Amino acid sequence: MLKNVVPLTRPMATRLDGRQLAAQLEQRLQALVAERLAQAGRPPGLAVLRVGDDPASGVYVANKEKACSRVGITNLGAHLSATTPAREVLATIERLNADPAVDGILLQLPLPGGLDEAPLLAAIDPQKDADGLHTLNLGRLLKGEPGPRSCTPAGVMALLAAAGVELAGKRAVVIGRSILVGQPMALMLQAANATVTVAHSRTQNLAELTRAADVLVVAAGKPQMIGAEHVKPGAVVVDVGIHRKPEGGLCGDVIFEQVEPIASAITPVPGGVGPMTVTMLLVNTVMAWSQRTGAELDFDALFAGLAFG
Ligand code: NAP
Repeated sequence: MLKNVVPLTRPMATRLDGRQLAAQLEQRLQALVAERLAQAGRPPGLAVLRVGDDPASGVYVANKEKACSRVGITNLGAHLSATTPAREVLATIERLNADPAVDGILLQLPLPGGLDEAPLLAAIDPQKDADGLHTLNLGRLLKGEPGPRSCTPAGVMALLAAAGVELAGKRAVVIGRSILVGQPMALMLQAANATVTVAHSRTQNLAELTRAADVLVVAAGKPQMIGAEHVKPGAVVVDVGIHRKPEGGLCGDVIFEQVEPIASAITPVPGGVGPMTVTMLLVNTVMAWSQRTGAELDFDALFAGLAFG
């Protein structure tokens, strides 16, 4: 008969609740906008530019517009038809660049076939680059200079900070090297003094690499590719992926049920990174508004003391 059997259970991982953190940040932004409104003389303005009728984009744009109205940002966006020629989209961007009421511009992707996104993204005034993806702003991130930061990785950094995850000296692995997520994520983790490895589709022995990670950020865009065998016990796991399941509902790149019992902290999908991406768009807009109306906003102070309740 077995005696003194110690149950092989670990405490469940902390859920890095993006909805909760986004709500806290929105409250701070709303208070800040209300406080500075009289001095600034106008509310912050965000222009989400949508071209065509991609249904998923419709949902994303509506979410961004609702978030804007919750914190007091005026929505100055435009919706152009799918057949709009490139020169007209460009002219709209130039009009928004010149409009003093617009602090942030976001070109919603994907664009309809036939429109090349690169020259259009490059045409956005870098000071109004709400997505933080303009070449100049990616360069600023690389050099550690201030500027609007890419929303998804900046949202991940805020989640890690709110959970009290110490990054200095830790081994971080980022799966994915896109300009949208993987590359800026790696730069931000490195700036926080983590030792960073970036994996991609040609990486060999992925599980061996990821099992060495104290912090694992998965942005491969492959549904449920990361399971228990990829994760070191006690690691912090951030799942950026978002996919519609054939049977309905959403899932990420990580098999949540397998990884949650092993990890010390994990983001759920939905409700993890997604809500923070939208909130960082608001942060970039409010930062630009403050700067353009004569007051520097302290980025770090905006995030100071945030924690999961
Ligand atoms: P992407 O442009 O398709 O990039 C995917 C990256 O993952 C590429 O670098 C690719 O490598 C790498 N990769 C693909 N398969 C891999 C594998 N089997 N092993 C290792 N690496 C692999 O995607 P993305 O725009 O970065 O987005 C990634 C995911 O995040 C998508 O699911 C997207 O929907 C989601 N997303 C979510 C949010 C949010 O707010 N939650 C925001 C943005 C994106 P190569 O470079 O070699 O091709």
